[in-house]
Amino acid sequence: MIYLDHNATRPILPEVLEAMMPYLTTEWGNPSSAYKFGAKLKSVIETAREQVAELIGVHPLDVIFTSCATESNNAAIAAALKANPGKRHIVTSQVEHSSVLNNCMALFSSGFTPPFPVGEVTSPSGGVNPPLREPGYRVTYLPVDRDGLLKLADLEAAITEQTAVVSLMWANNETGVLFPVEQIADICRSRGVLYHCDAVQAAGKVEIDVRKVPADYLSLTGHKFHAPKGIGALYVRRKSPFSPMVHGGHQERNRRGGTESVPLIVGMGKAAELARKHLPDYEKKVRPLRDELEERILTSIPDTELNGHKTQRVANTANITFHGIESEALLILLDKEGICASSGSACLADSDEPSHVIKAMKPHTAASRHMIRFSIDAATTRAQLGLALCAVQRCAEALRRVMAQRSATN
Ligand code: PLP
Repeated sequence: MIYLDHNATRPILPEVLEAMMPYLTTEWGNPSSAYKFGAKLKSVIETAREQVAELIGVHPLDVIFTSCATESNNAAIAAALKANPGKRHIVTSQVEHSSVLNNCMALFSSGFTPPFPVGEVTSPSGGVNPPLREPGYRVTYLPVDRDGLLKLADLEAAITEQTAVVSLMWANNETGVLFPVEQIADICRSRGVLYHCDAVQAAGKVEIDVRKVPADYLSLTGHKFHAPKGIGALYVRRKSPFSPMVHGGHQERNRRGGTESVPLIVGMGKAAELARKHLPDYEKKVRPLRDELEERILTSIPDTELNGHKTQRVANTANITFHGIESEALLILLDKEGICASSGSACLADSDEPSHVIKAMKPHTAASRHMIRFSIDAATTRAQLGLALCAVQRCAEALRRVMAQRSATN
């Protein structure tokens, strides 16, 4: 198998598993217990919190462990809205992850606080939402250009007195395109609006320093940087409002109820430490490999096109449209050849919908139905990419041959 889907999830590193093992075997106590066997695990959690905090340049007390980034994203937006009951407007983009978009869609269509004058709101796919029966939130989905870039002037224009929160990601999961988060944070600050940043796809790939990008909330998930699945984190700026979404016990200083999963937390901490250690080499190792794969696909396979800005992108992601070839057909053939790639977010892989990200970038083309995302990692080798390239060439050619035969017989 050649795994080229590292934006979907990554394997657990051996050092991470090793760090977790005692807490999966002998040290299985409950950190909230009064006796030492459990209570001693509190300090283990705090060490992991420090490791995660160091990855993003914040104080450990401002990091809350969650179950995943989907929870972190939902919790951040909910907290911002709850703190601003009079403000009924959210600004996000058309290319966010479904954990932000579907949350916004749900808030638009149901709402959970008093009435709001309802108007028509454009959905992320460019459609118009049906009229509401219940009061909801107004959502502005900012567009992106053909390269997947956001215009700051659009953000400036979208923010109003009614805006409670801006939720804009750091790096896109499908194209790797980087949003100008520093300027976004500055704009939100100067306009007095809370800023939530989904930094899931930036962690371990680019430097995240919340001192330079003063977001109010920032979401992470462990499995995108070699920790296990099922553990995430939410940074909340000390002075920014927060109220728990998961109510329960006093865990996480009353900010997130539920018995802490010590092994997963330890795994995320260790993975964060390693991600920080390896970050200086990441670009150097990964970018030339990705660039070579991308270049060779684009030059050797006819009718292919890059999706996403050439340089303003994380180093590991190549998103390519193979015109005329259905993504699913190509993925099936690649799978038979042992190549794992994807046609967008893994969270939406079982839906028939074409990529909403590519659709937002190239709305009047079929590019969104014909794209493949290849996402590599520091452990991916040049030899693997050479084999993958040959497989992609073979599969694309085979599919085009079948299509040509079909159109000749029709
Ligand atoms: N945000 C982005 C940009 C993602 O890529 C993902 C996962 O693919 C998520 C959020 C959701 O992460 P999780 O699976 O931890 O809920």
